[in-house]
Amino acid sequence: MFAPSDHKDRPYRRFMNSEIQSTQLVVIGAGPGGYAAAFHAADLGLQVTLIDLDQNPGGVCLYRGCIPSKALLHVAKVLREAKESSEWGIDFSSPKINLEKLKSWKESVVGKLTGGLGELSKQRKVTFIQGRASFDDSHHLLVQPNGEGNQFRIQFEQAIIATGSRPFIPSDLDIESSHLWTSNQALQLPEIPKKMLVIGGGYIGLELSTVYSALGSEVHGVEMAPGLLPGVDKDLVRVLSKRLEAMLSSIRLNTKVVKLKEKSGGLVATIQNEKGEASEEHYDKILIAVGRKPNSSGIGLNTTSVEVSEKGFIKVDEYRCTSVPHIFAIGAALDYISEIGLANVEKRIRSLTDFLIKQLKEEGF
Ligand SMILES: Cc1cc2nc3c(=O)[nH]c(=O)nc-3n(C[C@H](O)[C@H](O)[C@H](O)COP(=O)(O)OP(=O)(O)OC[C@H]3O[C@@H](n4cnc5c(N)ncnc54)[C@H](O)[C@@H]3O)c2cc1C
Repeated sequence: MFAPSDHKDRPYRRFMNSEIQSTQLVVIGAGPGGYAAAFHAADLGLQVTLIDLDQNPGGVCLYRGCIPSKALLHVAKVLREAKESSEWGIDFSSPKINLEKLKSWKESVVGKLTGGLGELSKQRKVTFIQGRASFDDSHHLLVQPNGEGNQFRIQFEQAIIATGSRPFIPSDLDIESSHLWTSNQALQLPEIPKKMLVIGGGYIGLELSTVYSALGSEVHGVEMAPGLLPGVDKDLVRVLSKRLEAMLSSIRLNTKVVKLKEKSGGLVATIQNEKGEASEEHYDKILIAVGRKPNSSGIGLNTTSVEVSEKGFIKVDEYRCTSVPHIFAIGAALDYISEIGLANVEKRIRSLTDFLIKQLKEEGF
């Protein structure tokens, strides 16, 4: 399949470089799926080009997911423990939150880890290009570098699509408003809203509810299913639900948000209970965390014979091979849980995440 080369002598290229005309392996997307695959392939001796929109490898997990959310959950834990410690006879005065300082600390955590991955790319002589890639045909990619620079074309022998996913917003709720946040905006900590609605009782909605309620927001949660964290062991969910009920202002199950509209510096949500009764409620900010969709559109898959499912997930076999034998796909762009079960790639993503979190803990975080 792959032929190892003497690529170790090649210089590391940090940014767009139109000299790159061909590569043995190109990896599109440098999240935990893409960078792990790229590093592994480079360790095996392949000449690897890794392309991502961000400045360094890391993907959603490091820039807009696991790492910033865990950094902020740590802050939430400290704030709650300080509050609860009065029960043990230790009183702290009310915390003063310096949002700008908190943001820059969180950014520094992200920067340290993504910078570290940039260094690891260099050490492995992986060519990292910051830009947007799309297929031109099944052996060529078009790359639009970030910032200045013209689009250029790369020929590849093998490709791995690791473009991940983005927040999903149902069309009924997809309105243009700065008061409507996804996890991307919420993790940037633009402000601490007074009153906030979190739509979705999955882990992303619950993590961010925990963070914002600890920071001082009045947080209300709604979930359309009869329980939080659908699919998770009910005994565990029971314990967590109790804790969340104490932290949040309300959590409503079997409840659906059916409409949103902007009003008086915030949003009005039309909320329907299980009996079908609707009420209108005003919030300063609404966070929508009802799922994610794969990044499979806009990457030129139509110029190849790579097949996608109705929901846009890239179809692969048990070797993560798409319908084109030299093009593979991994990570969140696949519907791997329902189609092929939890397999090695996912385990690898998890173990890398665990490793990064362990690293943070060792730094006293
Ligand atoms: C708030 C939040 C918290 C999370 N917490 C956890 C957790 O605690 N533990 C856990 O295991 N998982 C967690 N996750 C999930 C985890 O982030 C994903 O499972 C993981 O990031 C998927 O990795 P990936 O490599 O498939 O894709 P991604 O990490 O999504 O990376 C894909 C990359 O591809 C790039 N890309 C897309 N299109 C192009 C293109 N055309 N050209 C170039 N680059 C492109 C994107 O910019 C992105 O950097 C969390 C997610 C969120 C949103």
